[in-house]
Amino acid sequence: TNSLSLSDEAVIAADHARVFHSWSAQAHLPNFTVDSGQGCHLWDQSGRRWLDFTSQLVNVNIGYQHPAVVAAIKAQADILTTIAPATANGQRATAAELILRHLPDSFEKVFFTNAGADANENAIRLARLYTGRDKIISHYRSYHGNTGAAINATGDWRRMPNEYSRGHVHVFGPYLYRTEFWATTPEQECERALHSLERTIQSEGPDTVAGILFESIPGTAGILTPPPGYLAGVRRLADKYGIVLILDEVMAGFGRTGNWFAFQAHDVVPDLVTFAKGVNSGYVPAGGVALSGPIAHAFDDRVFPGGLTYSGHPLAMAAIVATITAMEDERIVENAARIGSEVIAPALTDLAASNPLVGEVRGSGVFWAIELVRDRVTREPVTPATMAAIKAACFDRGLLVFLADNRIHIVPPCVVTDDEATQGLAIIADVLSQLSKES
Ligand code: PLP
Repeated sequence: TNSLSLSDEAVIAADHARVFHSWSAQAHLPNFTVDSGQGCHLWDQSGRRWLDFTSQLVNVNIGYQHPAVVAAIKAQADILTTIAPATANGQRATAAELILRHLPDSFEKVFFTNAGADANENAIRLARLYTGRDKIISHYRSYHGNTGAAINATGDWRRMPNEYSRGHVHVFGPYLYRTEFWATTPEQECERALHSLERTIQSEGPDTVAGILFESIPGTAGILTPPPGYLAGVRRLADKYGIVLILDEVMAGFGRTGNWFAFQAHDVVPDLVTFAKGVNSGYVPAGGVALSGPIAHAFDDRVFPGGLTYSGHPLAMAAIVATITAMEDERIVENAARIGSEVIAPALTDLAASNPLVGEVRGSGVFWAIELVRDRVTREPVTPATMAAIKAACFDRGLLVFLADNRIHIVPPCVVTDDEATQGLAIIADVLSQLSKES
């Protein structure tokens, strides 16, 4: 039972009456409450259980209630629950050290934020201050967060109602299945996307472009792993025109792809990396920007004009230290890589071969998308009603799935076991098979 002794129905009614929800029409909220969790499972108060293939907003990489992380938060709470950012604190310094340990040697410092949006906000600020330029180029198919510059850098529909500031330019990135470049091979898609990016830089005026801000693998936009050579090509263009390369690893980082950071599989070293979500699995809100040496040292004698009351909050920092330590000790990133190649890849390959609704499957680690189409030739997406039916059918069978447009994103925690992954994938295959028989 929950600590307030409210029934599931009472919690839902009280929530819908008084909590104003993100990205929602307030009269159309799901009737869903969660009371507790463990590993990859969640329970409501009446004991109903779900296997979680969403990791919430693709952030609970170590699963629910990891005992070492819960213990570390409790231990820190007993000593010091809050301290201002200017004060040196052991948990904060150690958290920075552990994050930098998994980044290339060129990275020297970490600026801590409360989440992913303000990480991107401050990375954009750093790029602008460092270059003295103002434009930021990002992908149309992207999400970078819901604050001033971050939502303007976002490419998807969430940008338009919030678009009040200048200095943002968007380009199409590579996405061979729905190519914008009439490409038929990954090589063509890569070359033409890079050409289009370079022409955009030239047409905007290279002297006006401060930063390129790309998700290493666009996540919510469809888990769009770039073709080999794309990110390395972006790096070359950034160098050629003196532009800061910011890679957003908020969703793709900390194990999700089977690497500590997604860019590590792409032969590229960025200037700034933004992170949040997986850095401590959201046990206490935290995010940040990792800075390479030259940008960090540009502020040795110059004041950095940015800050947050809770930058490097000790409870969040204790959770980061314990999370990264657990990920290292328990080889959680390696588990994500293995589950991806040994369990998810074969199951999705079978699904694509056997079910006509499946247009494409793509991904790595525990970061996969199933793209669903009404017609494999035209690639017309399935309707929102079909997606809603899939979500409801999976929910009824005890599986939470992450849906975006016409796609199911397979994004369980990185600690998912072979059995859990197999079980969830079987439910999805079954639900899709039922649907394809009906359609
Ligand atoms: N960047 C990416 C790639 C994301 O997926 C998200 C959130 O989904 C954000 C930034 C924003 O992070 P937050 O919601 O923690 O502000």
